[in-house]
Amino acid sequence: MASRGADGGSAEAKSLDRIQRATDEASGEPISTEELPADVRRKVDHARERMLYAQAPGAIVMTIAASAGLLLTTTHGRLNAQHVAWAVAMAALVALRFTLYRLYLRSDRPVAPAVDRPLPVNDPAYWRRLYCGSVLLTGVNFALWPLAFFAAQTDVHRLTGALVLCALGSGAIAVLSVERWLALGYGALLLIPGSLMLIAVGGIEERICGGLGFVLWLSMFFSIGRTHERITQSLVLSYRNAVLVEERDRHSRALLEANTQLANAQEQMRRTNQRLEQRILERTAELHRLATRDSLTGLANRSRLAELTTAHLRSGDAPAALYFIDLDGFKEINDSMGHAIGDIVLSEVALRLADVAGDTLAISRWGGDEFLILRRAERDPADEYRYAETLLEALRDQIYIEPYMVRIDACIGIAHWPQDGCRLQELIYSADLAVYSAKAEGRGVIRAFDDALAQQGQRTLQLRQALARELAGGCPGLNLVYQPIFDAATGALSAVEALLRWRHAQLGAISPAEFIPLAERSGEMIPLGLWVMREACRFGASFDRAQLASICVNVSVQQLLYPGFADDLAIVLRDTGLDGDRLTIELTESIFIADYAQIAEIFRMLESLRVRVAIDDFGTGYSSLSYLQRLPAKLLKLDGSFVRALDAGGAPIIEAGISLARAFGMKVVAEGVEELAQLDALLTMGVDSVQGFLLGMPQSGDELRSRFVKDRFPPHPRLAGLAGVIEVRPNEMR
Ligand code: C2E
Ligand code: CA
Ligand code: CA
Repeated sequence: MASRGADGGSAEAKSLDRIQRATDEASGEPISTEELPADVRRKVDHARERMLYAQAPGAIVMTIAASAGLLLTTTHGRLNAQHVAWAVAMAALVALRFTLYRLYLRSDRPVAPAVDRPLPVNDPAYWRRLYCGSVLLTGVNFALWPLAFFAAQTDVHRLTGALVLCALGSGAIAVLSVERWLALGYGALLLIPGSLMLIAVGGIEERICGGLGFVLWLSMFFSIGRTHERITQSLVLSYRNAVLVEERDRHSRALLEANTQLANAQEQMRRTNQRLEQRILERTAELHRLATRDSLTGLANRSRLAELTTAHLRSGDAPAALYFIDLDGFKEINDSMGHAIGDIVLSEVALRLADVAGDTLAISRWGGDEFLILRRAERDPADEYRYAETLLEALRDQIYIEPYMVRIDACIGIAHWPQDGCRLQELIYSADLAVYSAKAEGRGVIRAFDDALAQQGQRTLQLRQALARELAGGCPGLNLVYQPIFDAATGALSAVEALLRWRHAQLGAISPAEFIPLAERSGEMIPLGLWVMREACRFGASFDRAQLASICVNVSVQQLLYPGFADDLAIVLRDTGLDGDRLTIELTESIFIADYAQIAEIFRMLESLRVRVAIDDFGTGYSSLSYLQRLPAKLLKLDGSFVRALDAGGAPIIEAGISLARAFGMKVVAEGVEELAQLDALLTMGVDSVQGFLLGMPQSGDELRSRFVKDRFPPHPRLAGLAGVIEVRPNEMR
C-alpha cells in the first residue's frame, strides 16, 4: 500500500518514475529487483512470497502424487525398509510444508511493515527462506530416490522413476520460477541425480535419457531465468498499477474532500453573508430609528414629525388638528430634583401621551418639555377640547420617582390644518402661539388658535421684523428713560434705573414688556442689550459720583449667559469712562435656571469689574436660596406686585423678603410705590430704597438733568422728612 504524507508521496513518485522508465516499452529493458527502490522491492518481495505460498497446496498435492507414483510404479508393491524410510521422510516433509503453510496463513502480517516492525516474522525473506528450505528438503528426498534405488531397479522402473521426477521437476519450475534459485535448485535435485544414475548404471538408451535429462536441466536453467524476469516484471507492473490506482483513488478522494471543503466554505460564506445582510438590515433600521426617534422618549423627533406630517398635508387629506403640549413648571422639577429626574419625568410623560393618544398621524417630542400630536380634526371643536382634556388627565396622575412624588400639569394649544397654517412650520407656529397664550392664563389651560391669536401672531411677526430693521438701522426709534430711586433714610437720589423705550413710526410706542421677550426669542436681545448698556453708561458717566452714585441697567438672562458679555461690558465701561462700581445690573430670578458654576464664573468677572448685581422682581419667579446665599448680589428689588398687594395681606411677604436680604447682607429696594400709604408702610418695614410713580416717573435723560438744582438732585421731600406736596405727574412719560 502506498504510504501517505509528503515525503512518502514523493519517494513513491520517484519509485514510480523509475518503474515507469524501467518498464517503458521503448527501452525494452527489464528491471531487476535489486534496481528497485527499497520500498518497492519490499512490496514486490511480499508479492513473491504470497505467490509462493499461494501454490503451496498444489505443490504439496503434486509431491504426494509424485511420491505415491514412485512408490507404486517402481517397487511392484515390494517395499523394503529403505522405501519405507524414504516414504516416512517424505510424509514428514509434506507435514512440515503443510504446517508451514498453515502458519503462514495465520501469521496475517501487515503488508509493508518491515521498517517500523522489524520482527523476523514480518520479513518476507523469512517466510521465503522457510518455504525454500522445506521445498529444497523435499527436493533432496526426491534426489535420494535415484541415488538409493536406481541401481537395484529394472531399466523400466528406472526410466519410469526418472520420468516421474522429470515431470515433477518441469512442472515445478513454472510455479517456482518466482524464486530463481529455488527453481534451479529444485530442478537440479530432481533431474541431475536421476540423470547421473541413468548414465552410471543403465544401458545405452538409459544413458541417452540421462543425457537428455542434463539437456532438459540446462534448458530449464535458461527458461527459469526468463520466467523469473517475466514474473518480476509483471509483479512490478501490477504493483505500479496498484500504486497508480491507489494514487488515482487518493487524488479523487482528495478532490472529493476539496469539493466538500469548497461546498462547506461556500455554505459558510452564504451564511456569513446572510448574517451580514441581516446585521446591515438591523443596523439600517437602528440608524433609521436613531435618526427619526427622540433618544430620550423614543417618540418621533422633529425630522420624523416633518416626514409624517408633510406626507399627510401633501396628500390633501382630511383636515388635521395639531396639539402643542407644553409642560407646566418642568423647569422647577429639573432644577430642584436634578436632570436625571427631569429625564424620567419626560419619558413618563411620553409614555402616558402615547398611551392615551389613540389614533394619531404623528406623535413627537418637539424639544425640551414640548410634545406635539397631529391627528384628524374633529367636526365639533368641543370634541377636540375633550381629547386635550384626556391628555391632561393622563399627565396629572402623580409620578412616583423615589424619593419624589411628582405632579405634572401642562397647557395645550390647538391649531388646525389648513386654516391656521398650510405648511407644518406655520401650523406649529400657530399652535405655539395658542399654547403661549394658554400659559399666560395659568396651569393646565387648553386654548385653540383663533382670530385674536392670529392677530397677535401677526403683530408679533410685524414687531420682530420691525425690531430687526431698527437694530440694523442704528436704533433711531429707541431711547432710554430713567426712573429715580431714592434712599429711604435721607430722601437723596441714590440711583436711576434705565428703561428702554421704542417708538415705531406706524405702530407707535411699544412697551418693553412686549418687545423684550420678542427680542429674547429672536436672538436680538444681545445687540439690543449692548446698545442699552452703552447708552446708560454714557448717561451715568455724564454725572459725577456725588450727583448720581449709581445707574441700574436691566440685563436679560440670555444676554448675561452670552459668552462675550463680560468683555463687552469692560469695553463699554472703558469707552464711556464710567467707574464699574457706579453700575448695577438688574437680573431677574430666571438666571437661577442656569448652572451654578456658570453663574458663579460670570459673577466673578463682574466683581473684577466692580460692577454690582441686583436681583430684580424678587418674589415673582423661582429663587434658589442657596444661590442667593452664595452669590455676591448686593441688592434685592422687591416686585411692585407685593407693594400693590400691601392692603391685601402682602406685608408678610415683603417683611420676609427684607429679613432674607438682611440675612444675606443685601440692601432692599421696593419698586412700584404709587401711594403714600404704601410708602409709609415700606418705610416702617425698613426698606433701604424706594422707586415708583409716587416718587418719580421714568423720564428722559434731559428732563432728569433739568431737575438738578445747583448740581444736586433735590432730596425727596416726603422721604427727607420735609413736609410738602408730593409731586405726582401721572401723564409723564412712563
Ligand atoms: P422692571 O425691570 O421691573 O422695570 C420696572 C418697570 O416698572 C418699568 O416698566 C417701570 O416703568 C414700571 N414702574 C415703575 N414704577 C412703577 C409704579 O409705581 N407703578 C407701576 N405700575 N409701574 C411702575 P417698563 O419700563 O414698562 O419695563 C417693563 C419691563 O421691561 C422691566 O421691568 C424690565 O424687565 C423690562 N425692561 C425695560 N427696559 C429694559 C432693558 O433695557 N433691558 C431689559 N433687559 N429689560 C428691560
Ligand atoms: Ca428692573
Ligand atoms: Ca422690577
